[in-house]
Amino acid sequence: MKVRTRFAPSPTGNVHIGNIRVAIYNWLFARHSGGEFVLRVEDTDIERSTPEAIQALLDAMDWLGFDIDGEHLYQTSRQQAHLEAAELLLEKGLAYKEDKGGTGQGECVIFKMPGTDVSFVDGIKGEMTKKAENMQDFVIVRSNGTPVFHLANVLDDIEQGITHVIRGDDHVENTFRHIALYEALGAEVPNFSHLPMIVNRQGKPYSKRDGDAFVGDFRENGFAADALFNYLALLGWSPGDDREVMTREEMIEAFTLERCQSSPAQFDMKKLTWMNGEYLQKLSVDEFEALAFAELKKAGISADEAYTKSVVNLIRDRVKNVTELVPMVGYFFADDYAYDEKGVRKKLQKDGVAETLEKIKAIFQSLAVFDEASTDKAMHDFVEESGLGFGAVMPPVRLSVSGMQSGPDLFPLLAVLGRDRVLERMDRTIEKYLK
Ligand code: GLU
Repeated sequence: MKVRTRFAPSPTGNVHIGNIRVAIYNWLFARHSGGEFVLRVEDTDIERSTPEAIQALLDAMDWLGFDIDGEHLYQTSRQQAHLEAAELLLEKGLAYKEDKGGTGQGECVIFKMPGTDVSFVDGIKGEMTKKAENMQDFVIVRSNGTPVFHLANVLDDIEQGITHVIRGDDHVENTFRHIALYEALGAEVPNFSHLPMIVNRQGKPYSKRDGDAFVGDFRENGFAADALFNYLALLGWSPGDDREVMTREEMIEAFTLERCQSSPAQFDMKKLTWMNGEYLQKLSVDEFEALAFAELKKAGISADEAYTKSVVNLIRDRVKNVTELVPMVGYFFADDYAYDEKGVRKKLQKDGVAETLEKIKAIFQSLAVFDEASTDKAMHDFVEESGLGFGAVMPPVRLSVSGMQSGPDLFPLLAVLGRDRVLERMDRTIEKYLK
């Protein structure tokens, strides 16, 4: 049997990470089994499923790099088939008509539950059973003539030849009814697996109120698609060892439903940010530069290309998200950088600092070459000869040239800024704070 899974979202304009995680697991399962992964757009809610909402869904899938097999199926295009199937159920006596609530607004079609218990083995939750007495007949066509979700969903899964339905566990209750429908329709019941939801710290469903919740938010906020994909894949599944940063091929190879956890998965922004940093570190120098240059351009920063390259490569391993880049490198491109006031009071405005800075300036001026190795040696020699601690020397220099108390290692930082900039900045700082 060739495995065929699907992602069947109802487009609303925003794609929640819980939904996209469902898509990821369906995709991984299909690819792991050498099967197919298809898309069905459950667009029957005409008010919400606007062309823009559908486009937002397709864009999110595209951005995350899903390859989808075959043509997408739009549920609204199947309305006739849904209504014909309801007719057939009526003819066979498996459904009946009723004027629900006696409103006189017409009759709806109601599916007759078989009156037996329904059981299935969930791929994640295991054995599931619901007693006959706890299940009622349910509407499959409304009195206005439109098919209800249960009917459309089951018929479209049959139409698309779906062998494995992997969806959120908010659908468990529906599954019992759906199985009864499959049987009434004489169709083979697929395998069902229900994923626990993504929750916040309090264990409540993770929503927009907890922070970024939609794929578009993460995209706008500088996350890499591959990092988000990898993070969500691990949110409730593990490869069975301690690997975390994984290529898609590695995830496909390791994916099984048995290793999906049956308890809710807690969203952890810190972990995602860490993961994103790992992906940034994996980029080639050229890729990272391209990304960084685009960020700088957006912020209106432009400077000599070689200088800009050395700046972005200097801070590269400190960046966990491209959006951090501009605030991190601002002082490289502007002379009117802000000073960390606390640092100024504690490290700069102290007795002897002006003198120390003057001496270091003189040493810097005298160096034959001004680079990482020469500034490193010169400052170490100075610390030793002067008997001043590193703490009295390095922080004032860093503050003078960057305004900050922390940042990249000092000597590569000095080398990237270059002698002229360093001396100018030291002068300006002395003028501003130490005179
Ligand atoms: N449109 C439904 C949803 O997004 C589909 C559920 C399913 O996967 O069967 O919840």
